Amino acid sequence: MLRTPKYYFRRTVTKAVRILSWCRAQADNFLTMGTFEPAIEGGPDNKAALLKEVEATLDAGTFGVRFTKIIEENFNEATKAPRAAFFIRLAIVGTIIYNLFLFLDAIIVPDVIRELIIMQLAIATPITCFCILAIGLSKIDTNYATMISVTAMLICTLAAFIVSRAEHVGLYGCLFCLFMTAVNVAQAWSFRWALTLTAVTNIAVTIAAVMHPSLDTPTRIFIIILLASASHYSLVGNYRIDSSVRRAYLFALRESLRASLLDESNVQLTILANLDGLTGIGNRRYFDKTLAKLWTDQEDRREIALLLLDIDHFKRLNDTHGHQAGDVCLQQVARCLAEQTVRRGQIVARYGGEEFALILADTNLGDAFYTAEEVRGAIEALVIYRDDGTALKITVSIGCASITPHADMSYSEIVAAADAALYIAKNTGRNRTKCAELGSINDTINNILISHNNCDLQKAI
Ligand code: GH3
Ligand code: MG
Ligand code: MG
Repeated sequence: MLRTPKYYFRRTVTKAVRILSWCRAQADNFLTMGTFEPAIEGGPDNKAALLKEVEATLDAGTFGVRFTKIIEENFNEATKAPRAAFFIRLAIVGTIIYNLFLFLDAIIVPDVIRELIIMQLAIATPITCFCILAIGLSKIDTNYATMISVTAMLICTLAAFIVSRAEHVGLYGCLFCLFMTAVNVAQAWSFRWALTLTAVTNIAVTIAAVMHPSLDTPTRIFIIILLASASHYSLVGNYRIDSSVRRAYLFALRESLRASLLDESNVQLTILANLDGLTGIGNRRYFDKTLAKLWTDQEDRREIALLLLDIDHFKRLNDTHGHQAGDVCLQQVARCLAEQTVRRGQIVARYGGEEFALILADTNLGDAFYTAEEVRGAIEALVIYRDDGTALKITVSIGCASITPHADMSYSEIVAAADAALYIAKNTGRNRTKCAELGSINDTINNILISHNNCDLQKAI
């Protein structure tokens, strides 16, 4: 196929655009600090207290310079990694530029260039490399690392400025402006640290310029004023960057805390919605949800057994001893059931009133019957003491059913079967277990086979 010059032109332009956008993405990654996840640890109380402080700080608008101690620690922890990565990138580039300036220094201050090369390459550069290494190993904070490396570079430059008697040493003095701009704006370290280093540098350079024998008065004034102006603008830039990073962090932290607290209160609400207030065990809602889930999750088609327990003559107990005594009974029965079942991984719930339910996963009717008899015996053995010391005895009747779940069946079928068996247990004298046996899994509930004789497994087995 013949390709026209237009084709090659278009191809070249497309490639160039692709390379440019790649470069832009790289520059963006290089020049920005990246994202950081707010660090939120601790219990709901800690989070609520932190949220209160965050909201108060946002309301007060005092995030420009510093946070409260707890938020400052949180901020430092969350931004530690991106700040460290940012420091390493800028320190490497900064050190290269700093040393490239030696070529310019050779022209401006040739009388001290030998000493300058030694100081920069043997002192300042190794110190910066050490800081980069320490940051990489998470040994120091980026603010300390910036302070150490920049101070080392500044001392070398200041020493050369003081010692040099070169004709253009005044121009060399202007380099401090570049330092301030680079460290305060590009590195964008914490404002308080930036302010401290800038103030000390201004004082030191002012003294050095005033005392310098080779400088005339206009040059001295020029260096001092220029450095003060550069310091002022770089500090303004630093403040704006620092405060917007902090402000963004406060918003991110506030949203994370709110979301986390909401999640936790939702969990609490879900727990409360599934608990029975009187007995502390699962309620009817919990029972329905659990059985329905077990029913649909039963992919390997294993049997599920259900026991429905009803306290015998509970109304009489209420009428004779009062509702409070009845409540204590319900609590004791629930505790007894929980103790009996939890260790076996079975599920217990208050089905309603004085009725309880036990769900036994992967259990056939025979095993369910034995469990029911154990539970019935444990409740029969219970002695419930009222406040006045009176001892109460109670018994339960239990209806027991077991079924292999099937897609065409609803879990209500096993409930109906256990209920029917419970009805028989009640009608045959109470304080006993009766079993319901279902027909084939395709049968409907009408085919439930319950008979007095074959349901009593004690006889059958
Ligand atoms: P049966 O042996 O046939 O089960 O008789 P029963 O008296 O236990 O059954 P009935 O259905 O006649 O009475 C149940 C009683 O349970 C009636 C109700 O006042 C009582 N009850 C239901 N919930 C509570 C409760 O939370 N606390 C108390 N104290 N009593 C309750
Ligand atoms: Mg009842
Ligand atoms: Mg009852």
